[in-house]
Formats: sequence, C-alpha cells, structure tokens
Amino acid sequence: MNTSPYTHPQAFDVIVVGGGHAGTEAALAAARMGCKTLLLTHNIETLGQMSCNPSIGGIGKGHLVREVDALGGAMALATDRGGIQFRTLNGSKGPAVRATRAQADRIRYKAAIRHVLENQPNLWLFQQSVDDLLVQGDRVVGAVTQVGIAFEARTVVLTAGTFLDGRVHVGLNNYQAGRAGDPPAVSLSARLKELQLPQGRLKTGTPPRLDGRSIDFSRCTEQPGDGVPHGDNPEHMPVFSFMGRADMHPRQISCWITHTNERTHDIIRSGFDRSPMFTGKIEGVGPRYCPSVEDKINRFADKDSHQIFLEPEGLDTHEIYPNGISTSLPFDIQYALVRSMPGLENAHILRPGYAIEYDYFDPRALKSSFETRQIQGLFFAGQINGTTGYEEAAAQGLFAGLNAALQVRGEAAWMPRRDEAYLGVLVDDLITKGVTEPYRMFTSRAEFRLQLREDNADLRLTETGRRLGLVDDARWDAFCRKRDAIERETQRLKSTWVNPRNLPAAEAERVLGKAIEHEYKLFDLLRRPAVGYAALADMQQGEWRSLDVSRETLGDLYDTVVEQVEISAKYSGYIDRQKEDIGKALHYENLLLPDDLDYAAVTALSFEVRQKLQQHRPRTLGQASRISGITPAAISLLLIHLKKSG
Ligand code: FAD
Repeated sequence: MNTSPYTHPQAFDVIVVGGGHAGTEAALAAARMGCKTLLLTHNIETLGQMSCNPSIGGIGKGHLVREVDALGGAMALATDRGGIQFRTLNGSKGPAVRATRAQADRIRYKAAIRHVLENQPNLWLFQQSVDDLLVQGDRVVGAVTQVGIAFEARTVVLTAGTFLDGRVHVGLNNYQAGRAGDPPAVSLSARLKELQLPQGRLKTGTPPRLDGRSIDFSRCTEQPGDGVPHGDNPEHMPVFSFMGRADMHPRQISCWITHTNERTHDIIRSGFDRSPMFTGKIEGVGPRYCPSVEDKINRFADKDSHQIFLEPEGLDTHEIYPNGISTSLPFDIQYALVRSMPGLENAHILRPGYAIEYDYFDPRALKSSFETRQIQGLFFAGQINGTTGYEEAAAQGLFAGLNAALQVRGEAAWMPRRDEAYLGVLVDDLITKGVTEPYRMFTSRAEFRLQLREDNADLRLTETGRRLGLVDDARWDAFCRKRDAIERETQRLKSTWVNPRNLPAAEAERVLGKAIEHEYKLFDLLRRPAVGYAALADMQQGEWRSLDVSRETLGDLYDTVVEQVEISAKYSGYIDRQKEDIGKALHYENLLLPDDLDYAAVTALSFEVRQKLQQHRPRTLGQASRISGITPAAISLLLIHLKKSG
C-alpha cells in the first residue's frame, strides 16, 4: 500500500465529498483503516469549519463526541486544542446525563482538524467542487469536479451539508449559497435528483455576529467555565478526548449573558410580515429544538424574556456569537432587536443573521451501513441525511467512512446496537423513522442511557475500534492500561471484606456514617449513597488500609478509575436491571429479516403496514418495530411468519 503523500493516484478506494464535520471524520476513518482515500472539498481553508455556533458538545451531543473519540476520531482532540471555555453540564445530576460542552476558538479548531488531516497516511486532499458522480449501472465508480477532473473510486461518501441547492434568506431577499460566503452545490444537487434518490427541503438558521468592542459587558452577567487549565488543580478542568489533557487547552475566557425584553419582542413581531418563514418564502422545516428567535416569540408568546448567551468566537478576534437570536428577519429588524438588549445598546453587527434552505435525502432510503439502497458504493453522512449539528455529522461521517472502508475490504458492515452507543441510536432512528425536521441528539432518545454514558464511551467502543483498524497504538495502549486498572480495582473492592471486629464503631461512624453490623465487601459499602471512594480510602485501620496504596499505584489514572468504580457500584442495581432488559429485548431486536422477505405473503398484515415494510425493508425485527405505523400486532404477525417459514 502506497502511503506517500507525493504520489497522486487518480483511482481511490474511498472518495469523500465535503470537508465539514462528517467529511473529515469519514475521510480520516477510511484512511486509518488502510484505504486509499481522497477528500474532495470546495475549499481547503474551510476544512472543519463551524457554520454556526462555535461550540462542541452538550447533552447528547457530547456523548456522540466521546464515541467518535473512542473510535479514534478527531473531533474531541481538536476541541481540546481549540476550546476556550469548558463546562460539565448537569454536573450535579446522574452520570448518564452529565455532558461536556466546550466553547471553541473557531480558527484554532479548524487548524487542529486540518493538521490531523494533512498528517494522516493514506489520505489525499483536493480542492474542487464536485459537480457529478460517475455511475455505472447501479454502482458509483467515481466523481467529477467542476473543471472536469475525474477521480475513480470503489466507494463514495457524500457529506455535502447544507450546500445542496442551498439558498440563503435574509428577510425577503435570498440568494444561492452553501452557507454565507460559500458557493452552493447546484450541479451535484441536480445530478442527485436525476438519480431519483428520495429527497426534501429543510432549513436552519444562524444569528447576526457582533463586534465585542461595541458591547458593554458590565451590563451582562459573566459566565465563567469550569476549572483552570494551567492552575493548581488542572484535573478539575473538563477535557473532551480520552487522550486529552487540560494543558492542551489554550487560555480560557468567559461567556456573558444578556436577555431579550418586551421591547425586543415587539421589534421582532413588527418584522413578521417580512419574515421569509412566516410569508412562505421558506418551505423547508427548521429544527424545533433550535428555533429562530422569531419562532420562539411566535410560539411562546407568554414568555416576556429569553436568555441570550454572548459567546466569544476566539482568542484573537472580537467577534461574538449571540446564542439564542438565530434569525432570518430583515436586517433593519435584526439591528433594532440586537440594540434593544442590555449591554448591546451600541452593538455593531459584523455579519447579518440568516436562514438557509437546502436539499436533504430521506435516510430511510439508506441501508444500515449508510450506503444508499439504490446506488451501490454510494454512502451519505451528515446534514445531508436530515440531521443538524456538528457532533451528529461527525458521528455519521465516521460511521459511513468506516463502512465504506469495510466494503472496500470485502467485509460485512458494522453498526452498533442501540444499547451500545448513541451512534447506534442515531443511525437506527434515521434509517427506521426518517426525519420530519432537522434531527438532533438528546439523551432521551436512548432507551438504555445508563449504559451509554460519556465517561464510558471508550469502554463501550474502543475495542471494536481497534478491531476495525480505527484505533492507533498510542490510544490502544492507554485504553488497555485504563481498562485493566478499573478491572483490577473493581475485583479488589469485591474481594476485600470489612468486618465489625476490625472496624471499630467510632471509625466506622467517621467514614461510613454508622457502625457496621456484619461483614461487608468494600464494593458493597461503596453502593451506599453516602459513602464515596474517598471515604473508603480514608479508613485508616485494618487490612483495607491498602486502599490508600491505590492512589500511588494508579497514578494519573486515579480519578478515572475511582469514577468508574464508584459509578459501577452506586448504579449497579439499575445497570444490572438494564442489562437484563437488554438481554430480553435483544433476541427479537437482532432477529434478522431475510433480504428477500415477501411482505405480501405475511398473513393478515394490513396493506399500509405491508407497504411500509416493503418500502423500508428493515434489517431486523427490532428495526421493523420502530418504523412509524408498525404496530406490536404487526410485529407478532411477522414473527409468526418467520417461525413458520423456518
Ligand atoms: P457541513 O459542515 O455543511 O460541510 C459540508 C462540506 O461539504 C463543506 O466543506 C462544503 O464546502 C463541502 N461541499 C458541499 N458540496 C460540495 C461539493 N459539491 N463539492 C465539494 N465540496 C462540497 N447546527 C446546530 O447544531 N445548531 C445550529 O443552530 C445550527 N445552525 C446552523 C445555521 C446555519 C446557517 C448553518 C449553515 C448550519 C447550522 N447548523 C447548526 C448545522 C451545522 O453547521 C451542521 O449540522 C454541520 O456543519 C453539518 O456538518 P456536515 O459535515 O454534514 O456539513
């Protein structure tokens, strides 16, 4: 295999179209797996560009970032290198919903992504717009750029984001673009329509950007991040990657909070008659959970104020992202609404807010590997599949990239189950339910979220990543060290007994809150809500004094191991019950439906159910059960049919 960056083969194993969050992870994954990969994108300067808010993570999304990282992806480490404010959200709640969020310096983030791409063996970058796909019969065989350069490939991963026939709207004005400042992908959109892949229109929006020098921050509330990266206690600083360290973070800065008021809302309402959304100029559906400010004022008319977060876009710029006022209202309304808020009375707008409408493709027309059903070798990932968000895009990109690589190798596709990863939930939701609005991840989408925590993403996925060829030696060694240390410590806690003879009542009351009446394993003491690992380690008497030794032996792994051991002890009851539920559900969940299953032959299924199953062709009974309109009764009929047909 030739990995020299100086030879430029025209034929590739995998071509990835698009250098956004999906495309970069897809290209990196395929290249890491040894495939000769080409990343074709409009502009090398915009690799890893954040089209909207400069932040990564949050609840549900942070979980995806950790999973991408556990599989060797780039997003988490780039965030550790570019993050200028880190916070742990839901820090006081249960571990399942705890999540990391980082404000990123968009230039540093992009630079970190580009550095990884440029140094990845097997990966070639090329700057050109892709206007056409080469298709022979029902198989994609390459891509053609705007100036007619043809590249052959065995698989193509399309990650065109919001660019396909993109149209930007500001008030009643609109123009074609992929996002502000970038060209749209019109020819490619036309080609995909010609190929008759099922598609629709969605929309998303972004706020105007402000010049920080014109903001009076003394009238806003400061919102600092968690921890000081280079201070005395760097271990309390959140990091994103399992390979990350707090000292990778650049200087940390604060965000600020202001709020809308009645006057702001009146100004917004006065622009409704020139809103492209309310006047029907935009037909695409927008994200319900990330609404424009005009949508919020319209839908929640009784609320007299909304919080607006003023988020710095970087360390070397004054540009501020006002999170919460995404809008496509005319510019004069944007100007007035911004200036109606405390601290923003003299704010200068650097870039107007806008909405963008674009083509997306119905993800129900994808196989569970993200390969399109109609065209072999053609994979879709990211916003093109009807999702929104960098994290959702990155996770899909990695997934499609690795499955394209598996196809090149002639191996079976890989898809994590819903109880293994948020990635499994994301893929399964998309291919079985499709989307009616831009899809974003929430922890509530996962049935087994106690298993799917940010903190254990590596324990869930890194071994698979290694097997697939995604995880390098450094990550693998670090992972094995951690996994083995957790295992050793858990076994030690499970095999170390404490008895009342050796633990005097006074000492027990001091560390455990009350005396113990019979023998306990340390692990079981740790299950008590009021007893933490530190309390156990504080026991100064008897044979369990050896707990103190673990701080020395675990070294830099101490906090991680303690966290895992504490979670597995404290939540063991729930976790075990959830595992039992998963076990029960798995039998039917994974029951494979034959590729050639004739739904017309399944007795008593309604016409509508037959049609839906025929159209979606679910891979498993579990997937069939999640298709909207497929009732439990229909699933029973299918099961009977499968049993009868052996
Ligand atoms: P993108 O990041 O859009 O990347 C697509 C890439 O493909 C680009 O590099 C582009 O140059 C390239 N490309 C496209 N067509 C071609 C072609 N024919 N040839 C070569 N290269 C091509 N997400 C949120 O979570 N919250 C928000 O509030 C939010 N608001 C948004 C507002 C706006 C205005 C926009 C544009 C996006 C917003 N997003 C938001 C979405 C977020 O930016 C996307 O979900 C994410 O960037 C999708 O990643 P992607 O890799 O799929 O596509």
